Amino acid sequence: MKKLFAALAAAAAIGMTASYAQAQDYPTRNITVVVPFAAGGPTDTVTRLVAEAMSKDLGQQVIVENVGGAGGTLGAKQVADAENDGYTLLLHHIGMATSDTLYRNLPYKTLEAFEYVGLVTEVPMTLLGRKDLEPNDLKGLIEYAKANKDKITVANAGIGAASHLCGMLFMSSIETPLVTVPYKGTGPAMTDLLGGQVDIMCDQTTNTTKQIQGGTVKAYAVTSPARLNVLPDLPTVAESGLPNMQVAIWHGIYAPKGTDAKITERLSKSLQVALKDPNVIARFAELGTVPSPEADATPAALKAKLESEIARWKPVIDAAGQYAD
Ligand code: ASP
Repeated sequence: MKKLFAALAAAAAIGMTASYAQAQDYPTRNITVVVPFAAGGPTDTVTRLVAEAMSKDLGQQVIVENVGGAGGTLGAKQVADAENDGYTLLLHHIGMATSDTLYRNLPYKTLEAFEYVGLVTEVPMTLLGRKDLEPNDLKGLIEYAKANKDKITVANAGIGAASHLCGMLFMSSIETPLVTVPYKGTGPAMTDLLGGQVDIMCDQTTNTTKQIQGGTVKAYAVTSPARLNVLPDLPTVAESGLPNMQVAIWHGIYAPKGTDAKITERLSKSLQVALKDPNVIARFAELGTVPSPEADATPAALKAKLESEIARWKPVIDAAGQYAD
């Protein structure tokens, strides 16, 4: 028996030393960050900018992998199941919280499957139409949507995505259900909006600012409390009579459960450096957003945000009674 205990203790010590050494040396190879949406969309854009700056700080490449589908839950599941060695991460947004209620058979437990690195940014949404959509302002769009509710199509990135949430806020604000068209991300949805295959979409400014400025889409409103510097002519939802549509899409970085705290702390420090990178600040500003403050780019802040956002959206979603499964 004594021998068995000694053997177990020795094995545990070896394991501890190995993981301690791993955490001390981290990172020694490329890191993959999963974006749970298709390439070319807003989450992808934010992730690529931050990944590039974190690569410089970490001395290893942070490579983006797009795993779109099911409103971001497929990518989240992939990371929940990944090795907890710090080499696979997830950059997800508010959908991490809303999908916890929207999917009653979620294949992972949101609050138990991940460790936290930190918050990245909060991005407003914009309500858009295809360029040749008839109405020129939100009031007109509401009338048009009510009159054409079986015809008008609303693009989103699947149930639980920010675009889905914002589309739902629009429909509930005008008390009119519309036909939704799910994509693997709003990158491909934007392509279809530009091509006129779909009528409207609500999406982060990180995907829409350039299109709005270029006049390739019609913009109706922004979901921030005040107008944005980069889109000064675009009225807020509150100004346009739909204050219930105010929403900010927060983004955070996660690691699989059990990832060593030394690793998540190292990543958090690197995220803080990345968020002060002049290129990240400048590109975020052009896209209508700002990096999260240093105090929010921490494991504790992201954990608190996720917990409070799950609690905030659960009663709203339950009251709507519409689930993904
Ligand atoms: N903006 C998308 C959403 O609806 C996701 C994406 O494609 O980045 O959540």
